[in-house]
Amino acid sequence: MKPAIWLDGSLRDPDTAMVSVFDHGLTVGDGVFETVKATEGRAFALTRHLRRLARSAEGLGLPEPDLDEVRRGCEEVLKAHPVAFGRLRITYTGGISPLGSDRGTAGPTVVVALTEAARRPDATAVITVPWARNERGALTGLKTTSYGENVVALARAREQDATEALFGNTVGALCEGTGSNVFVVLDGQLHTPPLSSGCLAGITRALVLEWVGAKETDLPLDALHRAEEVFLTSTTRDVQAVHRVDGHTLPGAPGPVTAEALRIFVERAAADIDP
Ligand code: PLP
Repeated sequence: MKPAIWLDGSLRDPDTAMVSVFDHGLTVGDGVFETVKATEGRAFALTRHLRRLARSAEGLGLPEPDLDEVRRGCEEVLKAHPVAFGRLRITYTGGISPLGSDRGTAGPTVVVALTEAARRPDATAVITVPWARNERGALTGLKTTSYGENVVALARAREQDATEALFGNTVGALCEGTGSNVFVVLDGQLHTPPLSSGCLAGITRALVLEWVGAKETDLPLDALHRAEEVFLTSTTRDVQAVHRVDGHTLPGAPGPVTAEALRIFVERAAADIDP
């Protein structure tokens, strides 16, 4: 299936829909985004995603997005292509601006793209990244389109037959992955790094905290190597067990805590499309 595209207020032909080469999101990464899960033609947790889009835009100093309009864009692409399982990608940028100048005055660019997606496997391998994620940077905690560092880290993971790369922060504490949050079981207790570690306020992370419960704990990066269980959370992974961290195997993944977290998550998510 071709993606369904909604751009600046209306559905477009995906073969001809265009964004300007002078779009500030393209030239300097001046944009924010959301990835939303689409199941049976409906968007999961859309209200939380829209709120986070607005928070990210505010953090980047972009004009406040019209969330009703963005929601309408999501509804229109879903109606045009009610996929059984897919992703909505919402991109909101600073808009058109001549090269070398500040953000333009023409107003932001808003794109909603709907694509089909494959379901992720139950368990996966991860690596740790040998450089630090800044937990006090201007963009920390914002979901901006400036994801270059994440792209490089993910490429390293792929070279090592892993699907995610996990960052430590400048004080050596576990932070997050390139597109996921991380949970760790130590002595039978479920932990996840606090937002002060520099991680994104993941929506799946928040739902697992609310529905399953976990302690928000600063953990050293090497806690991953002595953990009984590790799992990732994200819109694209839901709750996904980790069976290998760097060279260390976690036998029996998904372990009992992860399996229970996944069970609760799936049950609650099925009962409420917009929790
Ligand atoms: N951390 C980063 C850097 C991400 O890009 C994402 C996913 O978008 C997450 C965590 C997980 O967030 P969510 O559960 O909202 O998908």
